[in-house]
Amino acid sequence: MSANKQTLLLDHHLKKLKMPTMLREYEKTAALCRTERADYPQYLFRLSEMELLERERRAKERRIRDAGFPVIKTLDTFDFKAQPSVNQELVRGLMRGEYMDQKENVLLIGNSGTGKSHLATALAFQACCQGRAVRFFSTTGLVTQLLERREEKQLSKFHQKLARLDLMVLDELGYVPFSKAGAELLFECVSKAYERTSLIVTSNLPFENWAEIMGSERMTGALIDRLTHRVHILEANGESYRLAESKKRLKRNDRKS
Ligand code: ADP
Ligand code: MG
Repeated sequence: MSANKQTLLLDHHLKKLKMPTMLREYEKTAALCRTERADYPQYLFRLSEMELLERERRAKERRIRDAGFPVIKTLDTFDFKAQPSVNQELVRGLMRGEYMDQKENVLLIGNSGTGKSHLATALAFQACCQGRAVRFFSTTGLVTQLLERREEKQLSKFHQKLARLDLMVLDELGYVPFSKAGAELLFECVSKAYERTSLIVTSNLPFENWAEIMGSERMTGALIDRLTHRVHILEANGESYRLAESKKRLKRNDRKS
């Protein structure tokens, strides 16, 4: 076979085998291996490693995209000193992700602006980096989707999709009360996740007030029961970070003028 024909066929085979990185790199790597006198297994090893790393990088990017974060936040930008009520040790422990192996939940409870969504996002982002399938929902957004899917008779398909997740974030439970149907669908969702998918729930409301947004004492009791059977609770009870930042800014401006 002519060298030209072989190159053409090799490119074709690598494409067919879905090895885009090998395809892109094999010539360059061959030249490099020649100058370094690296042997054939070394050459193959380098190429396969590049392919694998690139594949993992793309998969991670896909997981992050599929998670649907409204904004990406990580722990390095979280200032624990600004929010001393948050149990830093627990947060750092949770970042390891073992709670998902145990199908445990995380509840973040506290006033508005205390970093609950930030921490929930940081935990969920880390889960994506660890190879887990994640979805981030605002709780009202999820309830709206559930109602829509039911309307379109696509609810069970939606539940099947959710069942494939390792982690689901329900952000900001408590800002808007649900309709009766909405509350029932949310309850169903939490029930299905029980002992199968970890949930991170953030709320500005203490448990006593959850019935007000769920509309039914009995359903709220059952919901809390499932959520808290295996749970890590993080409380954030300090001042709003946004408010504290604005106050600091105002003070600085005062001094300037
Ligand atoms: P919550 O969900 O509790 O209402 P957020 O997580 O939305 O609060 O926080 C509000 C804003 O303040 C966000 O931009 C968040 O990144 C920031 N923030 C809150 N707490 C901290 C903190 N301790 N360190 C750094 N940024 C913070
Ligand atoms: Mg929030």
